[in-house]
Amino acid sequence: MPQAPVADQLRLLTVQDLDTKVAQAHHRFASLPARQELSEITAQLAALEESRVEAATAVTDLRREVTKAEDDVVTVRARADRDNQRLLSGAGLAPKELQALQSELEVLAKRQGDLEEIELDAMQRLEDAEAEAARVAAEIEAVGAKVAEVQAKLDDEAATIEAEIVSLTAGRANAAEGIDEGLMALYEKLRAAQGGTGAAALKHGACQGCHMSLNPADLAHIEAAPADAIVRCEECGRILVRGAES
Ligand SMILES: [Zn+2]
Repeated sequence: MPQAPVADQLRLLTVQDLDTKVAQAHHRFASLPARQELSEITAQLAALEESRVEAATAVTDLRREVTKAEDDVVTVRARADRDNQRLLSGAGLAPKELQALQSELEVLAKRQGDLEEIELDAMQRLEDAEAEAARVAAEIEAVGAKVAEVQAKLDDEAATIEAEIVSLTAGRANAAEGIDEGLMALYEKLRAAQGGTGAAALKHGACQGCHMSLNPADLAHIEAAPADAIVRCEECGRILVRGAES
């Protein structure tokens, strides 16, 4: 059975504790809520940028539509003005021509009315599109400010955890200093294979690594082993450190 000084075995529990804390800090670092929040609002911002492009396109199209409607009204009005001029000045018009002019004016009046309605409708839709573009722009500004705020919060929280990891890692190096090499090598091997826990205390007849109570025969065997023997949990294989009962 491999051996290591009792003091080294007990110190290994401190190393394990610090390794666990470092792993937990890494986990907290990776799963900071601000990270998720940032990814959500960044996606929201990207969607808003698309809406901004759509709104700008709609405004451009509708401005063109309004201009076109205005031009159509001007054209019809000019034609009606010309007809009216002819009516006023054309004293010598034949009755047939007179009738033709009058009926054309009726058609033009109706046409002008229709076109003015189209123009009004286009103007209304342009107004709505401009309002939508302004709304999207305001939302982009608000969400953009939120992105900056959450990013700053995330940087702040990440820096705190990073400092914690640096400090824990230094403490761990200090705690591991001088521990029996064979014990450390076994510990590192088991820690890698057993989800981060390579050594555990034996407390009240149970392994604190897998939380299984040892059967009386194994327990008696372990208790009978020399104090500096490196014993392992029969259930999980981790190093079992005795004498840490407290
Ligand atoms: Zn165990």
